Amino acid sequence: MDNDNKLNKIVSLCRRRGFVFGGSEIYGGLSSVWDYGPLGAKLKKRIKDIWWDKYIEKREDIVGLDSSIIMHEKVFEASGHLKGFADWLIDCPRCKKRFRIDKLEKIDDTCYRCPECEVDISTEDNPTRKFNLMFKTNVSATETQPYYAYLRPETAQGIFINFINVLRSTHKKIPVGIAQIGKAFRNEVTTGSFIFRMKEFEQMEIEYFVWPQDSASWYKKWVEERYRFYIEEMGIREDNLRIREHSKDELAHYAKACTDIEFNFPFGWSELEGIANRGDFDLSEHSRVSKKDLTFFDTEKNEKLTPYVIEPSAGVDRTFFAIISDAFCEETVRGRKRTVLKLKPALAPYQSAVFPLLKNKEDLVKLAKKIFYDIKDVFPALYDDTASIGKLYRRQDEIGTPFCVTVDVDSLSDGKVTVRERDTMFQERVGITNVLNYIKNRINTEQSR
Ligand code: ATP
Repeated sequence: MDNDNKLNKIVSLCRRRGFVFGGSEIYGGLSSVWDYGPLGAKLKKRIKDIWWDKYIEKREDIVGLDSSIIMHEKVFEASGHLKGFADWLIDCPRCKKRFRIDKLEKIDDTCYRCPECEVDISTEDNPTRKFNLMFKTNVSATETQPYYAYLRPETAQGIFINFINVLRSTHKKIPVGIAQIGKAFRNEVTTGSFIFRMKEFEQMEIEYFVWPQDSASWYKKWVEERYRFYIEEMGIREDNLRIREHSKDELAHYAKACTDIEFNFPFGWSELEGIANRGDFDLSEHSRVSKKDLTFFDTEKNEKLTPYVIEPSAGVDRTFFAIISDAFCEETVRGRKRTVLKLKPALAPYQSAVFPLLKNKEDLVKLAKKIFYDIKDVFPALYDDTASIGKLYRRQDEIGTPFCVTVDVDSLSDGKVTVRERDTMFQERVGITNVLNYIKNRINTEQSR
């Protein structure tokens, strides 16, 4: 399967089965804006829940936060976003589309190739423009006397400006992490990258504050920790992941080090998450602009210090895309083609589905529904009797349901049902009283494949 084809197939599956829809679709759509459908909302929530549970609930050194999206202009003066968070853009004279220069093929210093119509775009005839990616909004009650604020372009700034609030209210000591999941907004100019690059997206960020002398070792630990997260918790194959350390000339002027975890997306290797050692830049700048003391007392050194920060910054939507892309699979079994999402069972929107073999047999339907309700009390499950058994299995394969339970006529006498496994299509008779435990064990022990 070539990569263009794979991307089209993934987008089509996502739309057809209710993972992702185009934003404002009935009004012609909005470019780079997407809505998550019923299955997408479930998968997205699973990703966030696993992250939150692992880092906030299970650890003592990290606390959670839910800061606001609309933020004061000064926040972005301090962070440098007002001045520097911009892309250089150019318009193609032929197709009239607008592109980011850094994403175009460079012919020479004054000429780029249009990716749509393949003409050469000269910067001498087509002036380049700097374009700030932040969304500005008026928060005053009148249009005549506007008061401007901004939608945050990353969740991180909410953490920095609450650093002292959090430390005072929790009595935590360094090293300490503050983490949050939330929407971020960037007016990205892009086409055809599905949910990889959106104007409205979600981030899962941790700002892990450490003493300067410990920052290099914490940085290393976080790169390893976050890489393992994608394999162990998200079920992504190691072949599709790689770690790319930024060279010195790629680093922001304040950054001590930065590493991207990249995924092999259908359009090539691209950033899934960035982990940076940001030094004391953020707290120092907020302290300078707000004139508030954001230092912390180091009892060992007996002095006030501005901690360094390690920032593992992940995108929920890119993780979602990577999971679906990694799990997407087409195979031919006994002469018939099937599409399967080989999701790690713990992530699947439904962890099991229950069917009666015959929908017009009252006893079977009754028993199937009873089993379904028992499972649903414990795991996300689905009941379906709207097609033949072959079709029902295919439907569940396509959305990644790891186990299907079928109730047939024999079930009424032998008290057993057929449990079919998604990836191997292996079928096993399991006692009705044991079904729940059987699925529970398999979900807990299995990765994805
Ligand atoms: P890129 O270079 O791909 O634009 P970035 O380096 O600007 O990404 P960061 O600012 O480091 O991204 O943001 C951290 C994470 O947030 C990214 O690794 C990505 O997962 C996610 N992210 C950033 N921008 C977007 C976007 N426009 N749409 C979806 N996810 C995004």
